[in-house]
Amino acid sequence: MIKVSIFFVETHTHLDLIKRSTEEVVKEATEKGVTKMVTIGIDLESSKIALEFASRFAGVYAAVGFHPHEAKFLDEENLKELEKLAKKDRVVAVGETGLDYYWKHSTLSCQMEAFKKQINLARKLNLPLIVHDREAHQDALKVLAEEAKGLKILLHCFSGDLDMAKVCIERGYYLGIGGVVTFNNAVKLRAIVKEVSLENMVLETDSPYLAPHPFRGKPNEPKYIPLIAEKIAEIKGISLEKVAKITSNAAQEFYGI
Ligand SMILES: [Zn+2]
Ligand SMILES: [Zn+2]
Repeated sequence: MIKVSIFFVETHTHLDLIKRSTEEVVKEATEKGVTKMVTIGIDLESSKIALEFASRFAGVYAAVGFHPHEAKFLDEENLKELEKLAKKDRVVAVGETGLDYYWKHSTLSCQMEAFKKQINLARKLNLPLIVHDREAHQDALKVLAEEAKGLKILLHCFSGDLDMAKVCIERGYYLGIGGVVTFNNAVKLRAIVKEVSLENMVLETDSPYLAPHPFRGKPNEPKYIPLIAEKIAEIKGISLEKVAKITSNAAQEFYGI
């Protein structure tokens, strides 16, 4: 008998923001087949914790960056610190960075400046870039086209329309698909998932936020990745194994893990 073993890659979690023992969180995810996960920094402090987790757990990798909410704090000194962190082993990407025109916790010009600084850092260190884009689609695409040519780009928690998805695919970007795809009202996202090639999609939870159905509104965790994969399999009419294999390949290719 051939035993088919499948595994998943969680491309975007914030382990430091999950209010439970990290040991337990990682263990339970691993038991569900989520054997590799990337924990994402949003400022210096959380980037340092991401690195600590990555050195402590075999399947955990770190991304270091300043979230658009924290963009106002990315001065020259903090940028130097961020660069030091980004050079460490087990750091697999710069991010999350980008633009958030919904909350605007930092001014738009601050966000733009921090975004460009981190694009430059990714280029300098030859690292992939994790982009957060909320209600800033046009500007995000414009900045990426002008400043990030040749970089590996992942638009995490993709929230654009089908036309934007097609532009992204043409440019070779990856789209992060998370719990939203399981929500009743996510008609637009499901249409994109149906249409777009799976080779450009990766799985993410963005935990502790955006838990998939039936845990919507509750704390999210990397162990729910298979629920997202199941939904994608259903939408595309393919097997769960195929979704796991192709998205895991894409994620490993993107992060080089
Ligand atoms: Zn984000
Ligand atoms: Zn995030």
